[in-house]
Amino acid sequence: MTIAYMLSDEIVEEDHGSKVTVRGWVQDIRNLGGISFIVLRDRSGTLQLTLPKKRTDPDVFGTLTTISRESVVEVTGTVKGTEQTDNGYEILPEAVRVLNIAETPLPMGVVDKVSVEMDTRLNNRFMDLRKPEIRAVFELKSLILDLLGGHLRTRGFLEVNTPKMVGSGAEGGATLFQIEYFGQKAYLAQSPQLYKQMLMSTGIDRVFEVSPAFRAEPSDTVRHVSEFISFDGEMAFIEHQEDVMDEIELCTQFLISGVMEEGKHLLDSIGAEVTMPRAPYPHLTYTECLDMINDNGLSLPMGADLGTEGEKMVGEIMKERGYDMYWIKEYPEAEKPFYIMEKEDTPFSYSFDLDYRGQEISSGGQREHRPEVLAERMRKKGLDPVSFNDYMAAFRFGMPPHGGWGLGLERFVVKMLDLPNIREAILFPRDRNRLTP
Ligand code: ATP
Ligand code: MG
Repeated sequence: MTIAYMLSDEIVEEDHGSKVTVRGWVQDIRNLGGISFIVLRDRSGTLQLTLPKKRTDPDVFGTLTTISRESVVEVTGTVKGTEQTDNGYEILPEAVRVLNIAETPLPMGVVDKVSVEMDTRLNNRFMDLRKPEIRAVFELKSLILDLLGGHLRTRGFLEVNTPKMVGSGAEGGATLFQIEYFGQKAYLAQSPQLYKQMLMSTGIDRVFEVSPAFRAEPSDTVRHVSEFISFDGEMAFIEHQEDVMDEIELCTQFLISGVMEEGKHLLDSIGAEVTMPRAPYPHLTYTECLDMINDNGLSLPMGADLGTEGEKMVGEIMKERGYDMYWIKEYPEAEKPFYIMEKEDTPFSYSFDLDYRGQEISSGGQREHRPEVLAERMRKKGLDPVSFNDYMAAFRFGMPPHGGWGLGLERFVVKMLDLPNIREAILFPRDRNRLTP
């Protein structure tokens, strides 16, 4: 027999006077002599157990008032309406089942408002996630994934899964993790790039994938980790890269408005205020951004990476103009991977970044679909087309023009919520210094 139990937020006025069973963690115990109060926490919030010493079964009283904090219990008792608690009721326990005793001392507090170091929190992530405001970020991430899938399917995209163990990388060797594959060298995929492009020659003309991407990023920053969730899309038969940009714009607008509507309670819990980025997102070019940055006191040469500081400057200028999201397009082709299409007779390319409040959250562009030009671009980048035979084959027998993007899901989430570190949006982050828990 399964015991029906209720969540703290499911108990309503009609339940006053009835017997219920609740389950959760003992968050706090206050023993005032003649009466004890216990705060029990479950997934949905907290409730108060009230134990008048004289009117409570002595065994139940003894167990609940001496149990260690964060122990897990199941309590059956009568609901009583009261104005003393936030949720308007208390429970007078009649029976208790101890499901598990928590050791003492706790590795970190669950309710203390004192700020705990990120490292301590991550070392004890299971404890950290007991805080509703921390857990809400992941509930929100889940909501975003739900919205994302629904939206893209209505836009004609097929959700796909491509391999994460691969024979070669698309974004360059420096950030590849090598693995042993039956005595052969293999790598963890940095992105689904080559596979989603190959799919464009199959007739599946719009795909998206949400999957882990692995980068051996030696940098130690608040926006880089070695495993993140990449939201990728690829579309065939585009006329120009703006077709791709329009699709991302539509999608990000849909996601943010969806979060504001359906995730209101989560945003309240996190204490985040989300606003709709003003659309249409302005289109800046790389060259315009370089000028903006250099007018602001830096001196970056043509072709240079805009850099963290440069991106931030552009973000501030765009903020003044009323924009949180904006495009930076036409990067120098020399800075872009081989699969990006060059802009005829210029040193630039059909590439773009989407920046959100001074930080890149997505990169994409039109792809080079003409096999001879693609092979030439590979050679220009010091790559041998022969080692990309399987990829090249998909281009030789009917490949439509296409373009796509990769968007870092966690960067999107932390920028939207204005959180200080990408690790806030990853349950168990992987970075240069962390492989556990
Ligand atoms: P950056 O210049 O900020 O390091 P990138 O240009 O190397 O990023 P891309 O290869 O363009 O990254 O990847 C597409 C998207 O994936 C990025 O816009 C970002 O949102 C996300 N991303 C890339 N690398 C990381 C990382 N190490 N950690 C978290 N997200 C990442
Ligand atoms: Mg990029």
